[in-house]
Amino acid sequence: MTRPTTTKILVDLRIALVQLNPQISQLEQTIKRSWTLLNNIPKGSKSPDLIVFPEFALTGYNFHSREQILPYCSDSVSAKGPIFQFAKQVSKAFNCYTVIGYPERVDDGSDLSVLYNSAAVVNANGNLVFNYRKSFLYETDKEWQCEENPEGFQTFPLSFLQKGTDLKTGEKVDVILKTGVGICMDLSPYEFKAPFNDFEFATYHLDRGTELIICPMAWLHSSSLTDAEDKNDRGKKMLIKENLKLNGVPEYGSQGDFQINFNQNSKPDRIRMDSEFVDKDYDKLNEPDMTNVNYWMLRFLPFLNLPIRNNWLQNNGDVLGQIMEMNGTKSYMGATQSDPWKFKGKNALLAIANRCGVEDGTTVFAGSSGIYKFNGEDTHESDHIDTTNESVYLYGNMGKGKEGVLIRDVEFEIDR
Ligand code: GLN
Repeated sequence: MTRPTTTKILVDLRIALVQLNPQISQLEQTIKRSWTLLNNIPKGSKSPDLIVFPEFALTGYNFHSREQILPYCSDSVSAKGPIFQFAKQVSKAFNCYTVIGYPERVDDGSDLSVLYNSAAVVNANGNLVFNYRKSFLYETDKEWQCEENPEGFQTFPLSFLQKGTDLKTGEKVDVILKTGVGICMDLSPYEFKAPFNDFEFATYHLDRGTELIICPMAWLHSSSLTDAEDKNDRGKKMLIKENLKLNGVPEYGSQGDFQINFNQNSKPDRIRMDSEFVDKDYDKLNEPDMTNVNYWMLRFLPFLNLPIRNNWLQNNGDVLGQIMEMNGTKSYMGATQSDPWKFKGKNALLAIANRCGVEDGTTVFAGSSGIYKFNGEDTHESDHIDTTNESVYLYGNMGKGKEGVLIRDVEFEIDR
């Protein structure tokens, strides 16, 4: 019997994240600012392979009714309207994939069209190649009767021509990456009620061997007012207002004060921060919100090296099996019954494009868009579930409060 042989392919991609502060009813202005920003990105041979925009990148996020959002929704079947037009133009201008969050309506010709919170994946020819719908909804999505993705989490193939190198022969090869999209709340426990340790999104993608994970987000900064009582508390609103003034930005946050971060050599280790480090203040808008970045890493725990998993297997192998059966997953917190760490020896690339700015004087977005590689290395003896865990490589992050673009050249290995 011949064993199937796998080949290691080194994938090289240039990824750009665009961080925006879109405000409701300012679609045109946001598109205009986006182009000013995009015009800093090189074209031709140095152009990115993938550009990622935030959730509801151009429309703003805090819609409070179906009536309010309807005029901003795009129909994914015709793939027409200003948002698709923009995405297609970006893809063609930079000869790349564009991933952009937008409110979707599925038209049945009546007022009853179904609404989703979606992300379009547009290829270099300007064709919509995948449309992902948010599976786990946030409270705000429910205000306009958004529906959950009927398919749940999904993967799809994304092909990159001549972006791989066969590590045995040194030859350049085409690669088709197993790709997944997650929109913001998808990373959280379902309805904030599911057991935290189920890590539904990360587990789904670990089980399927997803190689490229793309997350358009409108993730909130912890200074946001989220429950109804706080939102109406004039004193609390005043604090946000005064703080914005202190930071020299208007009540909706900074716009057009761009942070262009193409520094490929920036020392990633500088921004590793222990989760003991808590910074709840909305200030230093040029710097990432490390409390949030650490939280995102925590939500990807199944992809992180944790030596303690070896003990789980020895002591609780049966319990692990029972939980996996109950959850319908192939792993639990990154472990299987035969393998303490399913991800060991693998690589996955994570690109998070989060929005910034403030809406309603209550919702402060966290920005801090960033690119990460889970390297599958268990050579470090740390059980830290934050950015100090060395099985995650930090390519770089944007600041929490500025619009801008971050570009990084990434390298990761896949098996074929
Ligand atoms: N969990 C996210 C947050 O708290 C949800 C926001 C969203 O889905 N846009 O920011």
